[in-house]
Amino acid sequence: MSRAAIAKEVLVGQTRALKMPGALRCFEALARQANEEHWSYEEYLSEVLAAEIQSRNESAVRQRVREARFPELKTLDTFDFSATEGVSPPQIAELARGRFIESAENVLFVGPIGTGKTHLAISLGVEAARNRRRVLFMRAADLVRSLVEARDGRELSRLQRRLNGVELLIVDEFGFVPFDRAGGELLFNIVAERYERRSIMLTSNLAFSEWPRVLGGDDKLATALLDRLAHHATVITTKGKSYRMRKRAAQDASTSTTVKKETRPK
Ligand code: ADP
Ligand code: MG
Repeated sequence: MSRAAIAKEVLVGQTRALKMPGALRCFEALARQANEEHWSYEEYLSEVLAAEIQSRNESAVRQRVREARFPELKTLDTFDFSATEGVSPPQIAELARGRFIESAENVLFVGPIGTGKTHLAISLGVEAARNRRRVLFMRAADLVRSLVEARDGRELSRLQRRLNGVELLIVDEFGFVPFDRAGGELLFNIVAERYERRSIMLTSNLAFSEWPRVLGGDDKLATALLDRLAHHATVITTKGKSYRMRKRAAQDASTSTTVKKETRPK
């Protein structure tokens, strides 16, 4: 075995022992480049370490995205701003920077079904995860069910502690499933606990005036909840027709014209 081959074997072992997968992947190619371009030893070492740092950053982001439990991955680059009224690109770009999370402010997306509320919430959650924020996505009904189950299993404070560790809690589809009084109160406690401390992003197809209906007709609870949610919040009201339905309608229109063309007698 040549000296170079031995050094390589040793390096492979060392990068493994030090858990440096980025350095392991790159050190050989960088060594070739260093030879060709006559880098100094310091330059070479610094490039190897830079590769390791980048690899660690990427895996931290992947981990954050995994932990957020998004139901599917949506990103801002696939959002068509011309297809949803009420959403301004600069406003979304500002939210993507994540300052609202730093100042523990909330974001509320309100509007009819299919207008891209969940798409935007997931995309902004992904951006937050990319900025290394701890994010958790939950449908409102699932969140309340988890809270009720945790209370019944005497594990409520553990779940609350876990939720407190989440920097951006995304509560999707508030209003789809109504809660009983106890469920509404458990949700209220989460919102009250996070008030001015941690961010919530919530999507709802209901107008604010309809909130009491979801909370067992409890006007006081609805007002208290909305008060805390909306106090330091960006409210984005999406408008327009369902994106899916419009796409389907556009597809139907294009297939029916081709059918017509094909059946036209020659
Ligand atoms: P909502 O949560 O408001 O009911 P969704 O975000 O679930 O709506 O949107 C329904 C579907 O349509 C999703 O697949 C979403 O990606 C897509 N969609 C909605 N609005 C847009 C848009 N403006 N640009 C691109 N895709 C969109
Ligand atoms: Mg939705």
